[in-house]
Amino acid sequence: MARPLTIAGLLISLAWAAHARMQGPVSYRVITTDGVQALIVHASSGSTDIVTLDAVARLFGLLVRDDTRAGGVVVVSGNDRVILTAGQSTVSSGGRLVSLSGPVTRAGTTWLVPVDFLRALNRGIEVRRGSRVVVVAPATAPRVTARVERTSSGGRLVVTLDPGVATRVTREGPRVTIRAQATALDLEPLAGAPGDLVAGLRTDGPSLVVDLGSAVTNIRTEDTRDPTRVVIELVGTPAPVFDRPPGIQTVVIDPGHGGDEPGARSADGLLEKHLTLAVAQRVKALLEARLGLRVVLTRDEDTSVPSDRRAALANNNKADLFISLHANGSPSAALRGAQALGLDVSDYAGLDAGVRRQDAPALALPIAGGGTRVIDAVPWALAQLPMAAASSAFATTVVRRLSEAGVVMQTRAVDVAPLRVLVGAAMPAILIELGVLTNPEDARALTDPAHIERLADAIAIAVADVRLGAGGQ
Ligand SMILES: [Zn+2]
Repeated sequence: MARPLTIAGLLISLAWAAHARMQGPVSYRVITTDGVQALIVHASSGSTDIVTLDAVARLFGLLVRDDTRAGGVVVVSGNDRVILTAGQSTVSSGGRLVSLSGPVTRAGTTWLVPVDFLRALNRGIEVRRGSRVVVVAPATAPRVTARVERTSSGGRLVVTLDPGVATRVTREGPRVTIRAQATALDLEPLAGAPGDLVAGLRTDGPSLVVDLGSAVTNIRTEDTRDPTRVVIELVGTPAPVFDRPPGIQTVVIDPGHGGDEPGARSADGLLEKHLTLAVAQRVKALLEARLGLRVVLTRDEDTSVPSDRRAALANNNKADLFISLHANGSPSAALRGAQALGLDVSDYAGLDAGVRRQDAPALALPIAGGGTRVIDAVPWALAQLPMAAASSAFATTVVRRLSEAGVVMQTRAVDVAPLRVLVGAAMPAILIELGVLTNPEDARALTDPAHIERLADAIAIAVADVRLGAGGQ
């Protein structure tokens, strides 16, 4: 009953055994909606991988019966019967002939089949030999390739998905996660990426996990509107560029809200107005002590100050920098992270500098991760428009220093919004969202004095960066 191996089969087995000793066992990743299983490769040749029929039957719950009359074997797969004959490269599946990449063979009582035999089971099974992946419908596993390029501002990570699916990019410190709407990902290994830009790349279920290299201080996800492509700008150490030559003498810090405007609140009752004042006072102390700067706060107690008066105070004090401090709230408890925002000048394109519309209504703008930010979209004095580039450079510096301090940032860490408090400021001006109070982790951090110190220290270092950059010290 033990039939000898064919010579070809023997040679393949011997060659493969030698290979396997060096490489360890090789297997296919079988991706189903229930999870991922391994299908061990019994032997391999240049044109095909061979697996045992027993392993296939176990994996897919198939019934295998000897067909003694025909000298073959019958596999029952659902309503279909697949008939295999030793030495044949075709099988009969549900009455139709399916050709395989190699012959069915028999070694003793063990039946061996080329891995593409799985296609004959009529179960929507896709076999990818290159990556040794088997996808069983309705599971999906897009093929993923990644490429890292250097650019003048750092680098760019280009990820392609085939077929294209919806993705979502999130960042936690040095780790970026691209989550795809799929069961799993079939990733082609990334070779030769510059380690200072991308230190590691791996899959975790339907997610692609990217470990950023040490040169990357910030990321920006391009909106490609193309489900087959995800493009992430890897921003390297930026050099702040200021339109205004003089060094920094005076900084105005604006603790958001106050008085009868509490702002956002955490589940434990931490109010945005108290948080912003606490951070502002620490930043003021650090800037005065370390840099000898003149620092003016728009409020030093729990009082209400109108938006326009905050920027006006900066203008009247001839401030060189205006920093408004806030914290977010969101109906999505998952949304977390700090952000630095400049004024979205595109909203004011075409408006004359003299336009005043004090009666314009407040706007509720969608923010990343759900929820809205209510802002007063009033084209006010528009003094901020010529400062947009300098403000955005400063926002980038702040984000870099916050990231370096270990502060979790939102995916769009540097962003723009039509922020009324910045419109009238005639100097580089940004709004820092210190975190999201409705997120439990952020709320916990923001009640921790050590974290307040970390935030204040990072902001003060960012101001020092600007000062050194401009003054050439
Ligand atoms: Zn606020």
